[in-house]
Amino acid sequence: VSSLLSRCRTFKVLVIGDSGVGKTCLTHRLSAGQFPSRVEATIGVDFRERALDIDGEKIKLQLWDTAGQERFRKSMVQHYYRNVHAVLFIYDVTCPASFSGLVSWVEEWRQNSLGQEIPRFLVGNKSDLRDPSRKEQQVNQEQALSFAKAHGMTFFETSAKNPPAKRVNAQQGNRGLLYQQ
Ligand code: GDP
Ligand code: MG
Repeated sequence: VSSLLSRCRTFKVLVIGDSGVGKTCLTHRLSAGQFPSRVEATIGVDFRERALDIDGEKIKLQLWDTAGQERFRKSMVQHYYRNVHAVLFIYDVTCPASFSGLVSWVEEWRQNSLGQEIPRFLVGNKSDLRDPSRKEQQVNQEQALSFAKAHGMTFFETSAKNPPAKRVNAQQGNRGLLYQQ
């Protein structure tokens, strides 16, 4: 078993974005395969793992679920960005303020990533709550798409609660992928 484990490559994935957008629920969904019945507010950072088998190669995603207020704690932040393989920038599609908030998360990434061109993903969460009659109060996909293009990010909309692939009436193909960087 130990030799099998040692052959497993681990990828560090940083999950960032404003408080309440669903970072903890998304990492639960990815690691445990379900929406948590209850989540506590994250303090500092939590770690969850997801094992994957890609073309016969075993890999492990180490998900760093961070707390929103950590952006003010400069010393910790540098630690988060060390040896990171990918960053997920999360916003809530029903909360435009969380989308505007991404500007400062991107800035934080720029300051701490030391010019490394690691894969970045823009993730609009809570797509299950989209309400066509309240379009003005939500983040539209065109806006998010141009943000993704401008910042070299691949763009998804998803839901930790009810992922697109499981929805009966999924309009989006390919599990919520809207733009591939
Ligand atoms: P965090 O602060 O970014 O870690 O956000 P949490 O994961 O703690 O989630 C904040 C709130 O949003 C909780 O009440 C969750 O139940 C809710 N939530 C998270 N993801 C979703 C989702 O995809 N759909 C819906 N409807 N609610 C969600
Ligand atoms: Mg959290």
